[in-house]
Amino acid sequence: MNLNPFEFLDNFALMALAAVLYGIILRLEYPKTVRRALGGLLFGVGAAISMLDPLRVAPGVIVDLRSLFIGFSGAFLGPLAMVLSLCIGAVTRYQLGGIGVVPGIVGMTLAGCSGTLWGYLMRNQSRASIRHLLLLGLMLCTGLLAFLLLPVEIRTTAFTNAAPYAAASYILGALLLGTFVERERFYAMRERRLTNEVNTDPLTGLLNRRGFLQSFEIAQEETVSENGAAILLLDLDHFKVLNDTHGHDVGDLVLQSVGATLRNAVRQSDLLGRLGGEEFAVYLPNASMADARNIAERIRDGIETSTIASNGAAVSVSASVGGCWSLNAMDLTTGLKLADMELYKAKQGGRNQVRFTPTIKSAA
Ligand code: GH3
Ligand code: MG
Ligand code: MG
Repeated sequence: MNLNPFEFLDNFALMALAAVLYGIILRLEYPKTVRRALGGLLFGVGAAISMLDPLRVAPGVIVDLRSLFIGFSGAFLGPLAMVLSLCIGAVTRYQLGGIGVVPGIVGMTLAGCSGTLWGYLMRNQSRASIRHLLLLGLMLCTGLLAFLLLPVEIRTTAFTNAAPYAAASYILGALLLGTFVERERFYAMRERRLTNEVNTDPLTGLLNRRGFLQSFEIAQEETVSENGAAILLLDLDHFKVLNDTHGHDVGDLVLQSVGATLRNAVRQSDLLGRLGGEEFAVYLPNASMADARNIAERIRDGIETSTIASNGAAVSVSASVGGCWSLNAMDLTTGLKLADMELYKAKQGGRNQVRFTPTIKSAA
């Protein structure tokens, strides 16, 4: 058995590459589950490559850093990613064959579960410290217990010669590369949070004008609807009077309550924005004209019937709603302009009502 202290150095280079790719995956604009699955596949491929240049303990028995990859997958991406990386690792190990197949697969399963457990224990920590990473390295060493499943004569060699190398590599790997992976995770999350903040109205938690415009473009690219789409524009009625009567703080509470009413009235895939002051917009990317009208009416009714308690009195507000609907893809500027014209009619007609223009010409 060759005992080179730098045995697993090339694995560390591989791991560093995996950390960079992990950072790229985390920044992709895909749903969280998809990003996690891709990360799991990435670490699984890392585990497979690690097995191609292993430490050979005995014929058919190899030691490498696959457990580090699979453990990291569970630790930083959760159970789904761990299972995916484990599948790739297990299939690769099975293909390589030999008496070490079963202990090898058991070992990587133990390491994967330990990594996942570590990730679970860390769920409330914003960032892993050196101490946490050291713990991760130690936890991954549980995979080495699978050596117990080897025939007795090989077991001793495995424990005395290979295990110390592997354990030292897991711990060093967790410390060095864990720092790298953790850094990627921390900054990717921070970027995501800042992007969300830039696009969010802090008072209501709805999209702000900028976020609404941006999400509208994305929603339009992604949604192909046979039902049509609608834009609603809402403006609270006599809100200045409400502010003057009850104070600006109560006005803010009313705006928050309107935000909650809007959230309850639409589907997850619909867009809600506070375009400014006491003006809100709703985009229904997949709604028939009848649906859109009903939703607009439900929103108007919900706002009128919600109340806010202020000094023992119940404060309520009403809203005027203007809407437009189109069977074809809608240009936001045109849609908002048409909805605004309907909103104007609703205000002129006495407020607290919905006006709707059934069709608009398709986007120019
Ligand atoms: P109308 O029925 O014609 O829409 O009357 P209005 O009073 O609602 O319209 P106007 O545009 O005259 O007044 C809007 C008011 O909204 C004035 C402003 O003080 C208030 N407002 C805008 N932004 C906020 C906010 O963030 N918080 C509070 N509390 N009030 C706000
Ligand atoms: Mg207004
Ligand atoms: Mg108003």
